[in-house]
Amino acid sequence: MTHGTERPARTALITGITGQDGSYLAELLLEKGYTVHGLIRRSSTFNTARIDHLYQDPHDPAARLFLHHGDLTDGSRLVTLIERIQPTEVYNLAAQSHVRVSFDEPEFTGMTTGLGTTRLLEAIRASGVPARFYQASSSEMFGATPPPQNEDTPFWPRSPYGAAKVYSYWITRNYREAYDLFAVNGILFNHESPRRGETFVTRKIAMAAAAIAAGKQETLFMGNLDAVRDWGYAKEYVEGMWRMLQADTPRDYVLATGTSYTVRDFLEFCFSAVDLEWQNHVSFDPRYLRPSEVDSLVGDASRAHADLGWKAEVLPPQLARIMTQAEVQAQI
Ligand code: GDP
Repeated sequence: MTHGTERPARTALITGITGQDGSYLAELLLEKGYTVHGLIRRSSTFNTARIDHLYQDPHDPAARLFLHHGDLTDGSRLVTLIERIQPTEVYNLAAQSHVRVSFDEPEFTGMTTGLGTTRLLEAIRASGVPARFYQASSSEMFGATPPPQNEDTPFWPRSPYGAAKVYSYWITRNYREAYDLFAVNGILFNHESPRRGETFVTRKIAMAAAAIAAGKQETLFMGNLDAVRDWGYAKEYVEGMWRMLQADTPRDYVLATGTSYTVRDFLEFCFSAVDLEWQNHVSFDPRYLRPSEVDSLVGDASRAHADLGWKAEVLPPQLARIMTQAEVQAQI
């Protein structure tokens, strides 16, 4: 039975659903009544910890979350899935997303983080499914261009990851211009949470501060402490992604807090949350340096504020406390 006031059924496909952003976005869309499909990679170990709490038995008639094996390197699989799922929105959050690792695996990073986006866009175009498309673009595309960075700032990527993201940014724009797809880039500055991967600097620091406070670890080995980043809270950023796809016209947006802190500042925030002095516990290890570094990223999200009413509320000092407290809880 349908009612005149009911919104049409909305169905999202999320690539990268097992990641930090994918898990928060799946929660948000399920809350909003969407049916959510996620692309997951087959692995000999389970990799769905971040979404296990959302999982429902697909035999349950009320189930609205469905997971499918697939990969951004497998284009024909993407066509099959798009045709079968008939999504109204597609969020491309899948990638080899670690900057340091992209120097070790530059070709693989290009195949997934770069060309994977083309495979997904091509699957949408070829199937004729009128899905709106969100591309997870990154502040790493700005690289060496000095801050503040906004939607008009020229790109100067400093890693294979950054270069692959620049390619994906342009292919997304090209599909918008060439085929009139509703395809947008969210250019997100670093966004963190207790679900962040353990080798990203914020989570690494938060985990170490809690482990050292609990007497389970002595030393934290770190690379460049002078890098400046604009760290926001991932849970708020997925709301911005969704708003970009609800807009009247497709446009690219920066999401950022506009604040600038160094890695050293983040150490200070996390260690002081457990009453420790980071200087007593941190040692330098050159293995964490990058062959070319991004010195300073500070975003200007005024377009997102003006058009979408989006604004970051959680700023780095509070974010560091949230993350450190979550790790203290995990120690108990
Ligand atoms: P990125 O901005 O996407 O590279 O995010 P990361 O969290 O991996 O790194 C943020 C910054 O922290 C970069 O400038 C790194 O060079 C710096 N950094 C310093 N020490 C470390 C470390 O031990 N691990 C990581 N991941 N980054 C570090």
